Amino acid sequence: MENLEKIFSFINEKSEQYEQNSELTYLEGVLNTLEDILDQKIEWVGKDASKEEIRKAVQLAILKGMRKSSQPNHQMTPDSLGLLVGYFVEQFVEEKLSQGPVSILDPAVGTGNLLLTVMNMLDGKTFSTGIEVDETLIRLAADTAELTQQPIMLYHQDALQKMLVDPVDVVVCDLPVGYYPNEDVALDYELCAREGMSYAHHLLIEQSINHSKDGAYLFFLVPANLFESEQANELHNYLKKHAWIQAVIQLPDGLFANKSLEKSMLILQKQSKDHRAPREVLLAKVPNMSNKQALSAFFEKVQIWKKQK
Ligand code: SAM
Repeated sequence: MENLEKIFSFINEKSEQYEQNSELTYLEGVLNTLEDILDQKIEWVGKDASKEEIRKAVQLAILKGMRKSSQPNHQMTPDSLGLLVGYFVEQFVEEKLSQGPVSILDPAVGTGNLLLTVMNMLDGKTFSTGIEVDETLIRLAADTAELTQQPIMLYHQDALQKMLVDPVDVVVCDLPVGYYPNEDVALDYELCAREGMSYAHHLLIEQSINHSKDGAYLFFLVPANLFESEQANELHNYLKKHAWIQAVIQLPDGLFANKSLEKSMLILQKQSKDHRAPREVLLAKVPNMSNKQALSAFFEKVQIWKKQK
């Protein structure tokens, strides 16, 4: 049996036992199983597996658990998007990666799947910080990070409140979308709505920029209609002041269950005296990922843009 299948079957079987023999949900069963492995209460079948095999097997078990109790804003970032984010991180910070470890922040780390996909791609060249409000998700992230031996410091808190995080080189984040309920905290942000409630995804962009080094790159999965909302003008003005938009990448049709859930990738650079804005913003659409020819034309377009930027 392949490692991935072996690990998934193992976690799945133990999680089902938890679900059947106690009051726990399947997802809580996954969490307990991962903790049992780490506490060496059960024999770990993944000793010879690669980091990616472990991440993918855990991801399958979490996905199964999430399908049973789904909440749209808690959804794990799928591999297709994680790999694309990883590709762009690699392209934008290529030089920095060759000089030493690069620090990454994910202020809404969820299960850690996006962050770990990127870290596994750049294995040994990064160290990260993840923030998450949901306790079950952050525990899943902590366990998967430990099993894959990736250096991640995790904080269980609201990422819009004060964070004890040194400025980072890179931010990656699949932003939670919607209104932010804590209006007192929102007042600390330039992007606080003048009327009514503020958007959590806008405030998280600002908070990410606050915690980035000058010249850092930020990779966000954002709602496809980010620049069309009623607060889009304020977001535009804020970005003009603090960041340079590097790229807006439309994601392939069919990746999202319906139009209202469609996302794009927004790539920013925090403004700095040592850098300059790109000559042109990269505007591109990722083709259907099974179309190899179209996909390689897309990557070529990115390379040409990069050379001219
Ligand atoms: N990339 C994650 C993964 O692979 O599992 C998924 C991110 S999910 C789209 C957005 C996450 O943001 C959710 O896990 C949600 O609990 C978290 N979140 C929402 N508001 C937050 C806040 N104010 N501070 C920190 N995390 C928050």
